[in-house]
Amino acid sequence: MNLALETRNLKKNFGGFVATNDVSLRIVQGARHALIGPNGAGKTTIINLLTGTLAPTSGQVLLHGEDIAKLSAHARVGRGLSRTFQINQLFGDFTPLDSVMLAISEREGRSTHIFAPLKSQKDLVAEAAGLLEKFGLADVMGDATTALPYGKQRLLEIVLAIATRPRVLLLDEPAAGVPEEERHEVLAIVRDLPADVTVVLIEHDMDLVFAFADRISVLAQGALFAEGTVAEISKNPDVKAIYLGEDA
Ligand code: ADP
Ligand code: MG
Repeated sequence: MNLALETRNLKKNFGGFVATNDVSLRIVQGARHALIGPNGAGKTTIINLLTGTLAPTSGQVLLHGEDIAKLSAHARVGRGLSRTFQINQLFGDFTPLDSVMLAISEREGRSTHIFAPLKSQKDLVAEAAGLLEKFGLADVMGDATTALPYGKQRLLEIVLAIATRPRVLLLDEPAAGVPEEERHEVLAIVRDLPADVTVVLIEHDMDLVFAFADRISVLAQGALFAEGTVAEISKNPDVKAIYLGEDA
């Protein structure tokens, strides 16, 4: 089995608090892998450790077998590891079409010689518009991004991440704020990304997780609590127990 992402004994302490406790994850290339657990379990912290936003206290992170622990967040993106963009900071003043075109040109610039011409403007527009259309954003692609409803901004974040053509895509609650009736469709589109793209999803809604994932890792109090297929996790009484008392 080719591993896309692996953590070995990953630890992160904030002062005396252990946010990530000896987590060893193995995520197979092409997986639709969900990372679940109650609020505060340490899911976002792991994503931050994977992307390089946070430095681990100890332990390793491997991307396609390469130890990337010392690489900057930017260098990791260059290796094909993407998470959703925070459009609020980066792209607020642009239209969705401009933003996606920019993401595509950056991608092309990275992979071609510095003096090679960028994709022609026409190709750029077509690719960007096509992606936006897939996510139901065609009718707003010329609007100011900050004027979009929150749910559409979240969709745009996913489109921007996909536009970079990641090999591994990390999604931290991408459907939060997306209207209920659209959530399944959004995750179905992500699920249908090319089979060699690995997707790691954090999601609170179990119906969405079970429809999306082929494998699930459960975190509790910073540590790996259970791991298995959807069938295994959905009927695991211990997993149900750690969610009790939480209003999901
Ligand atoms: P989840 O995404 O599963 O809800 P997080 O990874 O965001 O959980 O947080 C896990 C725990 O680590 C929480 O108790 C949170 O308060 C703590 N934590 C996260 N980031 C920091 C930080 N920068 N400083 C101190 N504590 C943090
Ligand atoms: Mg979180």
